[in-house]
Amino acid sequence: MLTFALLTHFIYHLKSPFMTVCKYTLATILCCCFMLLTAQAQQKHIYIANDDHTDYFWSGNAATYQQAFLDVLDYYLDLNDATAGNALPYQNRYNCDAAFWVYTYKKYKTPTQFQRLINQIQSGHISVPLNMLVSTYGGQSAEAALRGMYWQGRLQRSYNLPFDIAISMENQTQPLGLSSLWAGAGARYSWKGVCGCASPVNYSELQNRTHEIYQYQGPDSTGVLMKWYSLNYNQGLGGYAEAWNPATAVNDCTNKCNTTGYPYVVAGGFGRGWDNLTTFDNTFPAVAQTNTNANRQVYVSNERDFFEHFETLYGNNLPTECVTYGNDWDTDCASLAEVTASVKRSVEKLRSAEALTTLVALQNPEFYPATDTLREKCWLALGQYWEHNFGLGGCCGDNERANWQRALANDVVTYVNQLYAQAVAALGGKIQKTGVNQRFFVMNPLNWQRTDAADIPYPGSAAIKVLDLQTGQETPFELLTIDGVQKLRVLAQNIPPVGYKIFEIQNSPGMAFPNTATISGNQMENDYYRITVTNSGVITSLQDKLNANTEYCQPLSSRYLNDLGSGNSSAGTLTLVNNGAVSATFRCVSANPVQHTTLVTLYKNINRIDLHNTINDNFGDAVRTYAFSFNLTNPTTHHEELGAILKAKETTQGGHYATNARRHGWQTLNHFADVSLAGRGVTLSNADAGFMKLGSSSTNFLDQNSPQVNVLAGGRMAGSGPGIYNQNGDTQFTSRFALQVHNNAFNQVNAMKYALEHQNPFVCGTVTGGTDYPETAFSFLSVSDPNVALWALKPSEEGIANGGIIARLWNLATTPSVCTLNFTRPATAAARTTHIETDIEPATVTNGNPIANIGQQQMQTYRVQLSCNTNPVIIGQNAVCVGANLYQYSIEPTPYATYNWTLNGNGIITAGQGTAAITVQWTGGSAGTVNVEEIVP
Ligand SMILES: [Zn+2]
Repeated sequence: MLTFALLTHFIYHLKSPFMTVCKYTLATILCCCFMLLTAQAQQKHIYIANDDHTDYFWSGNAATYQQAFLDVLDYYLDLNDATAGNALPYQNRYNCDAAFWVYTYKKYKTPTQFQRLINQIQSGHISVPLNMLVSTYGGQSAEAALRGMYWQGRLQRSYNLPFDIAISMENQTQPLGLSSLWAGAGARYSWKGVCGCASPVNYSELQNRTHEIYQYQGPDSTGVLMKWYSLNYNQGLGGYAEAWNPATAVNDCTNKCNTTGYPYVVAGGFGRGWDNLTTFDNTFPAVAQTNTNANRQVYVSNERDFFEHFETLYGNNLPTECVTYGNDWDTDCASLAEVTASVKRSVEKLRSAEALTTLVALQNPEFYPATDTLREKCWLALGQYWEHNFGLGGCCGDNERANWQRALANDVVTYVNQLYAQAVAALGGKIQKTGVNQRFFVMNPLNWQRTDAADIPYPGSAAIKVLDLQTGQETPFELLTIDGVQKLRVLAQNIPPVGYKIFEIQNSPGMAFPNTATISGNQMENDYYRITVTNSGVITSLQDKLNANTEYCQPLSSRYLNDLGSGNSSAGTLTLVNNGAVSATFRCVSANPVQHTTLVTLYKNINRIDLHNTINDNFGDAVRTYAFSFNLTNPTTHHEELGAILKAKETTQGGHYATNARRHGWQTLNHFADVSLAGRGVTLSNADAGFMKLGSSSTNFLDQNSPQVNVLAGGRMAGSGPGIYNQNGDTQFTSRFALQVHNNAFNQVNAMKYALEHQNPFVCGTVTGGTDYPETAFSFLSVSDPNVALWALKPSEEGIANGGIIARLWNLATTPSVCTLNFTRPATAAARTTHIETDIEPATVTNGNPIANIGQQQMQTYRVQLSCNTNPVIIGQNAVCVGANLYQYSIEPTPYATYNWTLNGNGIITAGQGTAAITVQWTGGSAGTVNVEEIVP
């Protein structure tokens, strides 16, 4: 009854010896070429790349673009074939600027036609980048950016395709964290050109970039080789159509070589299409050929050839940039704030849905099939949602664009909600159950033990007690009504990593637990905090009771904490809606400055203030923020930006913020921002918003010493194009936060783990009973290093039977980690993969445990194949006597395993069936055997 599939067969795709040989050959040729030409007075190497920049919903709507993709690709497939007889530099090549071109071609063309495209991608005549569309990234969470490349990962593995370029184009700025995510997904190169339009970013600074080509690296020191030239104009070098006129690009690149700012003999002019819907240009081969002479070799480029050539000559001696340029068009997604927030929430919820799904699919691999239409739509939508013309107008009306965004968001929300609901139900049906009392599981999707509140729908009486079945103790509980549904809220204590505990409801009154808070008017106080809340939901005082009642609120520009703009006004009504054994909540309803409802919650034995805000009105095109003004003088703020934890200071102050060609009005805000002094501070967890403004930051000013964080609830930004008007009519906007004071220095491990706890509540479900998982408690996976967070745990995209499970880890510490992944089942094999699940290299497995070797602040992804104990050894006596004697037989127990013992011959198991040790009485015959099956969940 080893009821799981044995997984032994998988293939390492990415770094096959074949590809390595290929690259080596190419590099050698180019190198020789260069050396030969060195003798001829430094011949220059100019690469011109044709593409058709995709301005989705600017140059055409979805239907128009669909036809454009097909027509343009057909044109270049033919042209590439027609020039295949030319010498290598003069064969035509064409560059898709987004993987969605390939997706569309696959969907609407025959398999034979699609194979022709694949062949040309493999031969290097068509190139395709990792990005699904041309997007902005400042509004994305790390996992959203990665899932937006998942369809490409499947394509890569199916056809052994190179995906070594990723781009973000035209938008004037770029976040820092993207570099590591791209590198982790397998990209090695990127290029960028900007518009120099619809933006307040200083034009002359765009014209004078600090570096033109450099190693673009995140705080983890991984990244991509980046070509981002100083802007000439947007149809010239540094623009997004550098090769708008390919002959001009050749001359501009020639002049760029061997200059002070560009001391290199290899240059590239990329991009042809500009804003045009379609581009049909057959002149590149002739331009390359006629402009080649003794001083200059011109190539029709697939972009990769440029980078490989450049890297061979200069790769070891390039400057490094580890800076963020801030957010430009990125913030336009806040003009459809609630829809954008729904995507962010779903990506976070996916963490829990997939953790549960992993447990279910280990028992039933069909639960996560290799092909799933809804899943594919979700990944596709995440690759498209932040398309760079968000609200910029162009061909299409505001409503058409908004409706497209809503449809994409719906694809994400629908998939995640369905997976979550099905996994909750399925897991409840796999946990052993005895007795008739109602039981529910409380599952912790994170990889450290934690205590938190857990809610389960419960329509019954309050005359009950709730038992933690592992400890046998009564647990504090309360009944409360949330969104019109009565819920049972328990204080679920010490829930194990990636595991659960079972609670049972018994229909008799239990012991009394004290209430959480002491209430006095607008003041609420528990063991940790004393807070004063206005009728509008603003916290005007926050005292840390663990440190001499230190005050953490200090108004700035008349704004306090969780302050939507009402300041210390008393407008509105405040009600104590609950004060029970687990939590206490104020509800504040106010029309100042806009109709909104705020819930402020304190907990028993949980150091966290929860803030649940909902704006219940359309606020037009106004920019709405929740201010958090802390009583900290000249603090330092850190925050997560797309998989990187940044110090919000300029580079000259030891931070990550650029001092030129920047737009610092809004900072990316992913899971948290932390505002701290040397020895204490406060962490703000953010579940819904995408951006914050530090103090009074503006385009060319980072207010880096400000104690105020203003979280963007929504708004249409002036100066960056139109945005979606009036939030497209939406009237409800949810923004959830949590606050925690810490009486030690900022620690990014603690800050992130705290934010993850707030944003990944326990998952609860009814136990309906089954056979696969233990009755009272279970922990599937723990990681030996507490600084390493499990970022995702899921069945592989090809399914558990084919590809095992995927574990993505983020080492949040500033030192490297070698850590062990302790699964309940032994691992038979493991591999490090890219973040889009393509294998890189085998990983070490020691004593059945995969070992992860992770750089400082780095995120890594692993594939793990789990098995059973292949050779359990039974310990016991071989020579036995028939009769009354009792004999012990046992095996080394595995955590959570159960054991099914059977005897051949005449014997009786008198004790221990189901456990790792039994007692046997032999009753007759001359020989017998003892057999055991180990059943590991
Ligand atoms: Zn564009």
